[in-house]
Amino acid sequence: MADRRRKPGFETLAIHAGQEPEAVTGAVVVPIFQTSTFAQEAVGKHTGYDYARTANPTRTALETCLAALEGARWGLAFSSGMAASDAVAHLLSAGDHVVMGDDVYGGTYRLFARVFDRLGVALSPVDMREPARAQRAMRKKTKLVWIETPSNPLLKVLDIAALAEIAHKGGALALVDNTFASPYLQQPLKLGADIALHSTTKYIGGHSDVVGGALVGNEPELRSRLAFVQNAAGGVPGPLDAWLVLRGAKTLALRMERHSANAQAVAIWLHEHPKVLRVNYPGLASHPHHDLARRQMREFGGMVSFELRGGEAAAKRMAARTEIFTLGESLGGVESLIEVPLPMTHASVRGTKLAPPAGLVRLSVGIETVGDLIGDLAQAIG
Ligand SMILES: *Cc1c(COP(=O)(O)O)cnc(C)c1O
Repeated sequence: MADRRRKPGFETLAIHAGQEPEAVTGAVVVPIFQTSTFAQEAVGKHTGYDYARTANPTRTALETCLAALEGARWGLAFSSGMAASDAVAHLLSAGDHVVMGDDVYGGTYRLFARVFDRLGVALSPVDMREPARAQRAMRKKTKLVWIETPSNPLLKVLDIAALAEIAHKGGALALVDNTFASPYLQQPLKLGADIALHSTTKYIGGHSDVVGGALVGNEPELRSRLAFVQNAAGGVPGPLDAWLVLRGAKTLALRMERHSANAQAVAIWLHEHPKVLRVNYPGLASHPHHDLARRQMREFGGMVSFELRGGEAAAKRMAARTEIFTLGESLGGVESLIEVPLPMTHASVRGTKLAPPAGLVRLSVGIETVGDLIGDLAQAIG
């Protein structure tokens, strides 16, 4: 007999947390509650649901599941990763200051540098690979330390525990954008972070068919402040989108295992290729923070970037030639994608010191047959 005291494992939680059979019909899968409002028995006497911006049962199931996957007390789902980031930014006031990694997701940088700067929130981007630099960037008014690891597109790995400690000593919140790793590979709250953020568009959704975001954490007071913003600003996912993300989450563990194994094999193959100058993958012993990645990650994920000899022209040529790897932005789906960051995802930082190397190619390694993926890269690299 199963030991009832045993804490459920990740895969069990992914399939069952927040997803008991539905009370009225016994439906095994959480229904899509496609409704904007809920009937009340008497004024103010309702089931806990009154209006679907505030709460919707499909979204509640997703929020419960995402919290469980991070080992957290609460989760909040949003209409996109950026809507989740925006909710966090709304915790700040004019005069506050944010310390942020210098190669975070471009949209995150844009939100703080071009929207919240006008509202008086100051920003310091720093290379956080050396935690002492983050320490030096802290000010009296620093309220938030924004950590993204592994980073995009260079797969830099940051020390979550050390950076969370620096944030807390300075009286700031520590947030980790956990999109690249997913909760299966990395659990930032257990390393001291206050909030883990996800673009669920990527690995958690996992099938390139939905845009979504999430925040998870433990502190109840933080939850109530963020839930207030979620409802006040209204960046919530519709029930169908919440359902798609929840369905994706069920197979997250299986997919991340295969993404990681395929990416490791691809990274090793690239590492040995004469046309490749350098491979960025935390699973390679040559990665400068391989040991740190081993400490804070279960495996190393599906994202790989590499620099080709021949610069941007060579990178563009290769990206146009692949047949299984689809040329496109985004990441984290079952299908493999290839892109050239400088003219594509990172075009907005071209010409600045944040620009990625011109010959950089980024892969989102999918879960296809690994030999087919390597064969495709081999014919495309030319
Ligand atoms: C895609 C992404 C985001 C933004 O999420 P959207 O769902 O596109 O709004 C934020 N952070 C990272 C690391 C991402 O890859």
